[in-house]
Amino acid sequence: MFDKILIANRGEIACRVASTAHRMGVRTVAVYSEADANARHVAWCDEAVPIGGPAPKDSYLRWERILQAARDTGAQAIHPGYGFLSENEAFAQACADAGIAFIGPRPSSILAMGLKAESKRLMEAAGVPLVPGYHGADQDPALLRCEADRIGYPVLIKASAGGGGKGMRVVESGADFEAALASCQREARNSFGDDAVLIEKYVQRPRHIEIQVFGDTHGQVVHLFERDCSVQRRHQKVLEESPAPGLSEALRQRMGEAAVAAARAVDYVGAGTVEFIVEQAAYDQPESMKFFFMEMNTRLQVEHPVTEAITGLDLVEWQLRVAAGEPLPLRQEQIRRQGHAIEARICAENPDNQFLPSTGTLRVYRKPEAVSFQLGSVRFDDGVREGDAISPYYDSMIAKLIVHGQDRHQALARLDAALAQTHIIGLATNVQFLRRVLATDSFAHARLDTALIAREHARLFEHPGVATELACVAATAQAWLGPRPLQSQNGPWIDPWSLRDGFQAHGPTLRRWTWRLNQTDVTTVLHTQTPMRLAIDDAPARPFAVSRIGDELDIAWGEQRFRAQVHHWDEQVHVFVNQGSLVIERVDELAHAGEQTDTGGQLTAPMPGKVLSFSVQVGDAVKVGQALAVMEAMKMEHTLHAPADGRVAELLYAPGDQVPEGAELLRLASPD
Ligand code: ADP
Ligand code: ADP
Ligand code: MG
Repeated sequence: MFDKILIANRGEIACRVASTAHRMGVRTVAVYSEADANARHVAWCDEAVPIGGPAPKDSYLRWERILQAARDTGAQAIHPGYGFLSENEAFAQACADAGIAFIGPRPSSILAMGLKAESKRLMEAAGVPLVPGYHGADQDPALLRCEADRIGYPVLIKASAGGGGKGMRVVESGADFEAALASCQREARNSFGDDAVLIEKYVQRPRHIEIQVFGDTHGQVVHLFERDCSVQRRHQKVLEESPAPGLSEALRQRMGEAAVAAARAVDYVGAGTVEFIVEQAAYDQPESMKFFFMEMNTRLQVEHPVTEAITGLDLVEWQLRVAAGEPLPLRQEQIRRQGHAIEARICAENPDNQFLPSTGTLRVYRKPEAVSFQLGSVRFDDGVREGDAISPYYDSMIAKLIVHGQDRHQALARLDAALAQTHIIGLATNVQFLRRVLATDSFAHARLDTALIAREHARLFEHPGVATELACVAATAQAWLGPRPLQSQNGPWIDPWSLRDGFQAHGPTLRRWTWRLNQTDVTTVLHTQTPMRLAIDDAPARPFAVSRIGDELDIAWGEQRFRAQVHHWDEQVHVFVNQGSLVIERVDELAHAGEQTDTGGQLTAPMPGKVLSFSVQVGDAVKVGQALAVMEAMKMEHTLHAPADGRVAELLYAPGDQVPEGAELLRLASPD
């Protein structure tokens, strides 16, 4: 085994790899960009080497610099994590040439699976089922159109070099083909420097089911069952689970065998994932399920902990052993699974605003407690700490929550409970959205396909949310109790003057607060004489009591009894109750009412990021809603639209510029 490895990544995966290395007695070297100087992965590793500026191309993608860091620190191997250099065959080759083990497959396997079109030709030869489609080298647009007509609509155009959900277009009919092809090629050229595409039949009720595989240098290849990753937005995974609901044992076995055949066809070594798209005639007809090869990811996958939970194995340990030349620890028939596991990706994004990534500081960052049960567990993998900034330079994933239970029902219940304990303040996240997805009929009854989020739109986006009343009652309770008392070393410290039992020497027995939500003011009036009562606006006062249990408030109000956690941040009050969370504003009645700022004449950046292009020039007349500019943040492109009619007076940035949130990008003059 190695004495020391370098981890060429950041965030949760760098921390996760380091944990296993430490457990195995392997020392670790972190690398970090300027933006990550105080990051958790830097503190977590034994040594750390700075490698350059915040942008990935100036740091985490600089492989000569990273190799030099490995040489300088005496690391014998490099773990690339996922993303960044993990699927870069030139880097894998450079490691080999430098006598440093690359913890991953051979360069030739990465190359063979790197382009979707070429990998399909290989898989066809290996007898792995493919989606009907065209993956030829001839890219003549007329030929591509003919092929699409032959396959039959809807079809999917994919960038052959694509990844991360980018460079894909669903085409519903021949009339839309040309435009979709052009836009797919443009995105492919910009993102991957290669505009070759392939065309596939868009399968019916598609489910994404992938198989974890592992190979060693002694010619063995095994699979570790499947993961269902059908719940997606923007063709990217949101929830991943295993076993795949409704998958028959016979089909599971055939998919496992096909995945092993795919891996063998490229002499695969290390951890890899073979992704299949599964067609189903109806949700409740498992016997109608057909699977087709989609692509192979030649690295450790984000969702690998799901497989670890059901098999009880540590896949990073297997990676290190295989890279050190050891045989796989288990044979196929020795690999067993137990229970049901599910992972939720917790991302810095706003589901109510097209999943736009958000950045900011993790002002409050409370996570569920990690626990193990007799069968099952709650695991939280992250790479951040309270107070850390989520910057625009990297992926929007903050953490992963993985739960394991006896069966799906138990796993879902544990996941929901753990999400309810995940409190993040300072930026938008998808935590409450994830809870709503779990609660949909489709998800709860495992009617899965990649359109689940779109199909459940009403339930997910037009949700009633937390009752305003409850949130105001909780905010009032917290305001009344004041900040949490400090704990002394020997137990709770009690200050008789801060006990809020209704006793007061002098002072008013009525206290009043005003809260604001969606421009509506709500007043709460607390009668502080025992027995306490609380009224909202002009409604009659109801009996009220509150006590503190750890971080939580236990509140009784009228007939209702509930637990809440309340965090104040400036004027904002974040209330977490079992049904979800809500942000309300505390109105200081003495302060001047906030003035509305008029943003009609300018276009501002909704998040920090890079300006990619402007679609208008100075002097152009524009209409409200017209696309004006494209920005990129967290590896996603966002089109910005005109806030009002007008004429472009000035462009304040140039394509390629990095801009902060709220930066004015372009000035509009009123239309003449
Ligand atoms: P897929 O969606 O193809 O299964 P994964 O879910 O494993 O792939 O990861 C999605 C992609 O997101 C990866 O290919 C990688 O490029 C990117 N990615 C995710 N997290 C990070 C990170 N912390 N740093 C860099 N890239 C990341
Ligand atoms: P990426 O490299 O971006 O991960 P994939 O080829 O793995 O690209 O496809 C990403 C997602 O797109 C899949 O998980 C699935 O949801 C959807 N998808 C891909 N191919 C098809 C298809 N032929 N029919 C329907 N959906 C598909
Ligand atoms: Mg994929």
